[in-house]
Amino acid sequence: MAWVIFLLVLGVMGALVWASASIRSGVYLKALCEARTEERKVALTFDDGPDEEMTPRVLALLRRYRAQATFFVVGDKVRQHPELVQRILADGHTLGNHTLSHNPLATLYSVSRYHDELFWGGDVVERLTGRRMRLFRPPFGVTNPPIARAVKALGLTCIGWSVRSLDTTRLGRERVLRRIEKGLKPGAVVLLHDRLPESDRLLEEVLKLLERENYKAVTVDELFAIEAYEK
Ligand SMILES: [Zn+2]
Repeated sequence: MAWVIFLLVLGVMGALVWASASIRSGVYLKALCEARTEERKVALTFDDGPDEEMTPRVLALLRRYRAQATFFVVGDKVRQHPELVQRILADGHTLGNHTLSHNPLATLYSVSRYHDELFWGGDVVERLTGRRMRLFRPPFGVTNPPIARAVKALGLTCIGWSVRSLDTTRLGRERVLRRIEKGLKPGAVVLLHDRLPESDRLLEEVLKLLERENYKAVTVDELFAIEAYEK
């Protein structure tokens, strides 16, 4: 009998971890992960910037390949590099909220504390650009009941992904690229980062792949036909 209870507890715990960690589960917070479309459009998304070294290179590549993207920025880094955020906007890309501090412990925060993370993360960008962001990407892809309540209170739309490139792991560029190639389809949302030593080299390969396969890279708001900022 004891082992039955043990297995049950294990199963419930597993389900809870999965619901928190898998953005595609949508258990706590519904996230837009993939658009329903037949057009060959995909959204490239860059988390964790702006980064002094990589963001300018990423922007240059996007311009060269005439691709649009979405940058989920960290408020503290926006404060350090406001000029990069201006450049992202000037190039026609979209900005989204990736919290103020990107603290791993934020997943344990109360509703009001997470609310502050989102509010002040957005406030930095609003003061700088006059735009109040509506799109949110949860750090580490983690959602839970307090996060869901804070996101709803601020009226933000949660953006997930359909292709987790694993570019932050030690997988290596070739295998990361193959994962992206495998997940490529109309309406796909690709998770990337503009803060890694190889972010630019990987992006160039991805852009060549999109060109070869005749895909157009658009912002997430265009892909899902939603508003990126408050009116
Ligand atoms: Zn992140």
